[in-house]
Amino acid sequence: MTQIEYSLGQEVGLAGIANEIDAEALYDKCLALAHNMWWSWQPEVNSLFRDIDPIRWRQLDHNPIALLREFTPERLAIRAGEMVLHSRVNYAFRRLQEYLECKNTWAQNNAGVLGGKPVAYFSAEFGLHESLPVYSGGLGVLSGDHVKSASGLGVPLVGIGLYYSHGYFKQHLSADGYQREEYYETKVEDLPLEPAVQTDGTPLMVSIDTRNGRLLAKVWKVQVGRVRLFLLDCNVEGNRPEDRELTSRLYGGDERTRIRQELVIGVGGVKALRALGINPGVYHLNEGHSAFAPLEVMRERMADDGLSFEDAMRETAESTIFTTHTPVPAGHDRFDAAIIEEHLGPLRDSLGISAEHLMGLGRVNTQDHSESFCMTVIGLKMSRSANAVSQLHGHISRRMWKNLWPSRDERNIPIGHITNGVHIESWLAWQMQQLYDRHFPASWKNQMGEPDVWQNIHSVDPGELWETHNALKNLLLSFVRRRISRQCRRRGESDEIVEAARNLLSPNILTIGFGRRFATYKRANLLFKDLDRICRLLDSTERPIQIIYAGKAHPKDEPGKRFIQEIANLRLDSRFAGRVAFVEDYDINVCRHLIQGVDVWLNNPRRPLEASGTSGQKTVLNGGLNCSILDGWWAEAYDGANGFAIGKGTSHTDDRLTDKRDAEYLYQTLEERIIPIFYDRDRDGLPGKWIKMMMNSISTLAWRFSSHRMVMDYTRQAYVPAAGGLSCEMKVFD
Ligand SMILES: *Cc1c(COP(=O)(O)O)cnc(C)c1O
Repeated sequence: MTQIEYSLGQEVGLAGIANEIDAEALYDKCLALAHNMWWSWQPEVNSLFRDIDPIRWRQLDHNPIALLREFTPERLAIRAGEMVLHSRVNYAFRRLQEYLECKNTWAQNNAGVLGGKPVAYFSAEFGLHESLPVYSGGLGVLSGDHVKSASGLGVPLVGIGLYYSHGYFKQHLSADGYQREEYYETKVEDLPLEPAVQTDGTPLMVSIDTRNGRLLAKVWKVQVGRVRLFLLDCNVEGNRPEDRELTSRLYGGDERTRIRQELVIGVGGVKALRALGINPGVYHLNEGHSAFAPLEVMRERMADDGLSFEDAMRETAESTIFTTHTPVPAGHDRFDAAIIEEHLGPLRDSLGISAEHLMGLGRVNTQDHSESFCMTVIGLKMSRSANAVSQLHGHISRRMWKNLWPSRDERNIPIGHITNGVHIESWLAWQMQQLYDRHFPASWKNQMGEPDVWQNIHSVDPGELWETHNALKNLLLSFVRRRISRQCRRRGESDEIVEAARNLLSPNILTIGFGRRFATYKRANLLFKDLDRICRLLDSTERPIQIIYAGKAHPKDEPGKRFIQEIANLRLDSRFAGRVAFVEDYDINVCRHLIQGVDVWLNNPRRPLEASGTSGQKTVLNGGLNCSILDGWWAEAYDGANGFAIGKGTSHTDDRLTDKRDAEYLYQTLEERIIPIFYDRDRDGLPGKWIKMMMNSISTLAWRFSSHRMVMDYTRQAYVPAAGGLSCEMKVFD
């Protein structure tokens, strides 16, 4: 710099340099916020990022890192000046620091025994937010909510999963309503991932030996509030080309892909923990995918502590708990002896057991050579306690696995249940949160898992609750219209059709939502079993209804895809046009809009195939009412005054009969209960009885089906006993 320039610069320059430092500091704070998923359940931080650039925010799937990458610190500072963001950024940043440093948590008083020896929570997917696409559906969102509540409660826990570079597919429907799947590679730079480093500071790489070579995985770290989540990724140099693809997609490929993914998550996951210097006090296997993990833990114990196989097995099981999610036998992963030997052979050598012995660990009848190796069976055998995910699912699971304990009565099969719940702060609409803030005790967010707080909903003015709900309903309807007109434009449909989509649905009409995987047992088309009857309901001049659908079918599930087609094509039928909408590409974002805005959330699975279900629990928080078959969580939640039941909670062996009978029950519930109560208005135009039901639903269900309550249950009933705080009955196999 020349002398002249320098002295010229001094006048404006010092301020300029100060601004530059300010700009850098502001940018760094925003980045720090974006790198802890904590931001995703803070409405204030969400709106902060949105206000930086509302249009890009939406286009970028609400991804703050991708958004910030489009800004230089200087441009961000200018934008922050325009939008008065500085103090909001500083405040959010300070709150995050306080949250991370807070020592006064629930776990401090209730789970001290876990201090220093965290729970290692294994799951094949984690659904934390739409911008981190490493989940497909319910299991992932449940794991995400589990991790968030562990953070909130201060439970020492680390998550272990896989990094899927292409995630799950994006769904588009072609003009004939058929599902098309597209996979996009996510840019790692746009995600809140950091390479995990070993205790000596070098990037971590784990390797797993198989009979036909070595499998490598690197490890990413995601910070979720106070909890660390580690995701293993096989796309590394040194792996064969096909192995580099191994973790690219969720639930893709064949059984070989599957066992190799499960080897990485279970065995690789334990190795990663070890290399990171983390010594878990408890291993929680969330579903069977990770059930190879205890074998690696045993290998460590035998090598390090010189334990015998039997002692290592007993000690490992003492610190392992297992959660099963699948009420159908076909849903459990099974592998034959050859593929097990190929992948677990070297580990088996270290354990010093025969191939038959290993196979026996995954069989109900240890000696039955025709039986394949089942991940759920080894999960049950290698854990001290096991649980299903709802009361009813507990019954089903005990019946399903009773042959593992042939001398026991079904009632005494050692599989309990802890019913699933949802992370309130992630699913509660900001507008409803404001209402709770006004009427609940100031500390209500610290007591979300307790019943008393929620009783306060009964003292809210009915008009205020109704207005808040309707504001959310309007947001949902504009979201749906925007999405559907975009869908029509993408398909190249006429301006007329696009225009019609903009006028779809009406805010005054009873609005039913249905969003979930299109697996056939969920019977998305049940409402259309009798077309004349549903037409009369949709088309009624006095008391019409409208329905919004969303959901993906597994790429290999042809019947599921035909269900989608059947429903999507109703838009072409003049009897349904304008009253039935199908929103493409169901994900956390679409789900959030739906559950926050519907009047009624419909769930009609074939009982008892819904292990728990969680989407209806999300609706509760926002004032929507559930209308559901008495299956999963609803079988224990429904009390006659907090929502609607379809049928009487019975099952039939003949599916056709069941479907026919349940469709009849569904129509009856709509015609005799839901529609009359919704349209029964008082002098102020309020549906008094309906609003009372909304209040009942919130007060009886919100706390019970929250993931805070769920994680507290896991902590008290499973984690603390497993960590050695208390003894509990070990499962003994006959
Ligand atoms: C909550 C959620 C689910 C689970 O819904 P179910 O009713 O349990 O099937 C699935 N997918 C997404 C994206 C969700 O947010």
